[in-house]
Amino acid sequence: MTADETFVIVGAGQAGAMAAQTLREEGFDGRVVLIGQEHDRPYERPPLSKDYLMDKAEREKIYVHPESWYAEHDVDLRLATTVTEIHPATHRVTLATGEAIGYTKLLLTTGSTPRRLPVPGANRDGVLYLRRVGDSDRVKETLRSASHVAVVGGGWIGLEVAAAARTAGVAVTLLEAADLPLLQVLGPEAAAVFAGLHRGNGVELRCGVQVAEVTGSGVRLTGGDQIDVDAVVVGVGITPNTQLAEEAGLTVDNGVRVDARLRTSDPDVYAAGDVANAMHPHLGKHIRVEHWANARHQPRTAARAMLGQDVAYDRLPYFYTDQYDLGMEYTGYAEPGGYDQVVFRGDLERREFIAFWLSGGRVLAGMNVNVWDVTEPIQALIRSGKPVDVERLANPGEPLENLVEG
Ligand SMILES: Cc1cc2nc3c(=O)[nH]c(=O)nc-3n(C[C@H](O)[C@H](O)[C@H](O)COP(=O)(O)OP(=O)(O)OC[C@H]3O[C@@H](n4cnc5c(N)ncnc54)[C@H](O)[C@@H]3O)c2cc1C
Repeated sequence: MTADETFVIVGAGQAGAMAAQTLREEGFDGRVVLIGQEHDRPYERPPLSKDYLMDKAEREKIYVHPESWYAEHDVDLRLATTVTEIHPATHRVTLATGEAIGYTKLLLTTGSTPRRLPVPGANRDGVLYLRRVGDSDRVKETLRSASHVAVVGGGWIGLEVAAAARTAGVAVTLLEAADLPLLQVLGPEAAAVFAGLHRGNGVELRCGVQVAEVTGSGVRLTGGDQIDVDAVVVGVGITPNTQLAEEAGLTVDNGVRVDARLRTSDPDVYAAGDVANAMHPHLGKHIRVEHWANARHQPRTAARAMLGQDVAYDRLPYFYTDQYDLGMEYTGYAEPGGYDQVVFRGDLERREFIAFWLSGGRVLAGMNVNVWDVTEPIQALIRSGKPVDVERLANPGEPLENLVEG
């Protein structure tokens, strides 16, 4: 009997919405309360730095569900509402309004917040961060009138904004502290592809530089260089929103720590999406994944676990990007220092290739660039855990499926 139970979901982003959907799909007939700080109903963020930012997708396209879906599925969606406290002992959450809601099970999908640039002037008008749809509207508006912008941070968001700006005909200076954009994520071999892509599209890419200050007219670098621009867009990473969990006494360590069933240190509280640092059965360790596919699938497992099903989340990490004419998918997990070989298959010059990260001859991760429909065999290679023949792996004529079979 679940009709008298209440499942509360804190955080009405993509992960929260997917959890609510799964609870109903699985036949949960109790009360579902989905609480979110933002004014918009749950939406997906990837378009905010791509099609939506470039005015190629309407706002309606970003939403996870049509507006009517929540009432139709009896999901009590509370927007513009902040949860200020969780009380695990009494199974209640408190809202900023003072209202308390009791729960049988609680799911945290509180996501993450962009890191601020830790320099003087970082909060000036004209310094833009990109997380919410309103942020994307502001960047879009800026790109309509600006002639030159500085993008601080050569991660995925920074590079996508740079691509959108160049596509809009705006001059871009991209400032990156490391020697290459994406160096930490991809390593020097594959990161160089993205540096070449942006330089080839007219971005002034300055690596190995530090912003010392945002001034009234642009940015000043350590060393004194002043770059005059109309606006500054910052993409220097995110921090998981763990404050509620921490204050409630849940175990927090680079996100809310959960087991493979996505259960926190409290048996009635679960976490999923950007905020969850989850035990991954295939990788044999905890990882926190800040990507769309994780926000789509992980909460489905969390919802089933909350219903008492014997499930574990073991999908391999997956993410994608689109920049100019480059489309890319990355799957698996290869951390800096965790691999000893990078193998390319295809044409790097034309940016049509697959890169593989290996350790001891075993594939840990793969990135396909302008090559499609290969995620499944790449994941099968990773899951097999067997050493592969590197020459065959590098040969585009050899079907990946053959390598999986050995
Ligand atoms: C601009 C942009 C582009 C991206 N592009 C890609 C991409 O190309 N590919 C990819 O794989 N990933 C991409 N991502 C990442 C992906 O969008 C995130 O991984 C995903 O949004 C995470 O979803 P989530 O629901 O876990 O968290 P969020 O989307 O952060 O949602 C969490 C929600 O919880 C709310 N909340 C937090 N605390 C409280 C509280 N106390 N009370 C009430 N509500 C609260 C927040 O306001 C927020 O609305 C992109 C992200 C951004 C910002």
